[in-house]
Amino acid sequence: MVDFNKLIDAYLARESYCKKIGRYYPSEIGSCLRKIWYSYKKPKPTDTELIRIFEAGNMLHTFITEVIKSEKNPEVKLLQSEMPVKFQEKDFIISGRVDNLILVEIENKKVLVEIKSCKYLPTDFKKEHAMQLQLYMHFTGIYNGILLYIQKDNLQTTCFDIIYNPEEVREILKRFHSLHLFLVNDKIPEAEAKLDPDKVWMCEKCPWKDECENDKELNKMY
Ligand code: SF4
Repeated sequence: MVDFNKLIDAYLARESYCKKIGRYYPSEIGSCLRKIWYSYKKPKPTDTELIRIFEAGNMLHTFITEVIKSEKNPEVKLLQSEMPVKFQEKDFIISGRVDNLILVEIENKKVLVEIKSCKYLPTDFKKEHAMQLQLYMHFTGIYNGILLYIQKDNLQTTCFDIIYNPEEVREILKRFHSLHLFLVNDKIPEAEAKLDPDKVWMCEKCPWKDECENDKELNKMY
């Protein structure tokens, strides 16, 4: 019998690449700082299960784009999808193609919509998702943002207006600076997610769980 799982994995297989210190990705900065650090210092190929999850998310983003583009919904207009983002800081660059971000027009107003697929609709937005959107608003100069969550199994949605906050953006940029310094100085950041009850869920599927456990002595240094 044909193994369809194998076919899917073969289809989705991508060449892994090494990340370059000095080039950072807006979609990652809400994640555990130590985890991002490992992804530069001890890269690993992306787990096939995770690749499938990303792909399922991409399909839903395409679906939402089609919904917005449809003539059946004249009250919204799609202006741009898969937006490239580039921001030069003194010592590094923040860039990437953001494929879950679209620019729409609603009531003559430009709005950035960040689409997140999820298992269950949340009652509130996740801080790390809002972080990304704050950055996108800052980079694009479009200060109206919506975080849209779509449930994978029934296509129900919920959304949250995100208000641009320059103070929050300054804090996020500080995180990039701090990541850059940890990387260039070859110093490991603290196990951020483990130490924060709101972020500890990130450890569950972290590919560097073992390394992080072995490096736990280093936590005491910070
Ligand atoms: S195991 Fe948790 S604390 Fe450690 S690197 Fe991964 S996400 Fe961060």
